[in-house]
Amino acid sequence: MFINQMNIKNLLESDWSADIQECIVTIRSKITDIINYFRWYYISCNVCSKKMTPANGVYPCLNCNKDCKFPLVKYKIHVKVEDNTGKTAFVLFNDVAEKILDISAHKLFNKLSSLDNNDVPAHIQSLCGKDFIFKLTLNSYNLKEGLKNFTVSKLWIPYEKLELEYKLMKEKKVLQYSLLKFVMPNFIYFINHIFGYWFYMCRL
Ligand SMILES: [Zn+2]
Repeated sequence: MFINQMNIKNLLESDWSADIQECIVTIRSKITDIINYFRWYYISCNVCSKKMTPANGVYPCLNCNKDCKFPLVKYKIHVKVEDNTGKTAFVLFNDVAEKILDISAHKLFNKLSSLDNNDVPAHIQSLCGKDFIFKLTLNSYNLKEGLKNFTVSKLWIPYEKLELEYKLMKEKKVLQYSLLKFVMPNFIYFINHIFGYWFYMCRL
């Protein structure tokens, strides 16, 4: 929940090292809108889970090389997010979205009438205005090619008490470090003088 916590500005402006293959970060932000340009779902093959495009009333799976008899509806929700440092967009894939919405995409899709399945269902729309902690697994596309297509690998509802404890712990660590930075040189200086004095006394 607190791995490499950063804000949106840091995420967008980070200059990642060329050696990094994959990087995990967490960001707390608010979902402000659902982008329906790409729809909120896709049709997948029930055997290999690959995306399929309908053709002539059937669903040919190019991966299995045959028509799929039981096509499944899966989530792929593009959301706009923002915090007090900036705005960006994340993608919630099936497992992540299903967990937070507590209903499978297939069930939700079947509940809708054929007329309104192009709109974003109210159940998904209800995510707007809510704060979440997003875990992003940044891959080489994000890190090296700078693509802002951030895929969410996990999602949590913020637990304020834990957030506060983490913040306090972080501040305490900074304080301890500052104290150590101040105390250690003085301590070494003091020890040096004691030994110097002792050495001087021994020689007398
Ligand atoms: Zn398939």
